[in-house]
Amino acid sequence: MDDQTDRRPHDLTLGGDAPEPRPVARSIRRGVFNRCPKCGEGRLFSGFLRSVDQCAVCGEQLDHHRADDFPPYIVIFVIGHIVVAGYLATELTLTLSSWGQLAIWVPVAIVLSLLLMQPAKGGVIGLQWALRMHGFSGEDDQPADLLSPRDDAR
Ligand SMILES: [Zn+2]
Repeated sequence: MDDQTDRRPHDLTLGGDAPEPRPVARSIRRGVFNRCPKCGEGRLFSGFLRSVDQCAVCGEQLDHHRADDFPPYIVIFVIGHIVVAGYLATELTLTLSSWGQLAIWVPVAIVLSLLLMQPAKGGVIGLQWALRMHGFSGEDDQPADLLSPRDDAR
């Protein structure tokens, strides 16, 4: 099979500078710690979950991300495992009432959710930046990525 067939047109570079490397693990780590995935210096968030439009240090545009529901999904996945495992462990080892279990695990779930949400979103933004998704490549999203116009005629 011809290996030219699965190349996209913009993979072909003739002259010019090679694109700068974007290591995925480093970019995610910088995002998790509230740092710009490009320079690692500027802050990524201006509020609890409000990301900056542009890095204050290197000027990288950071408003291309589409983190959407992925950060909450990650948080639910992680905390679900912690809380269910913790509940089962305390159920087996301690004699607590249902109210006692709720008094432990509901606050744990709420506090961990609040602690993990911003790092999860930062990690997702770092991942999307590293993979050059959603305009982080310097090009707008392809039309195939966009929703078709809604047909209100019916
Ligand atoms: Zn930066």
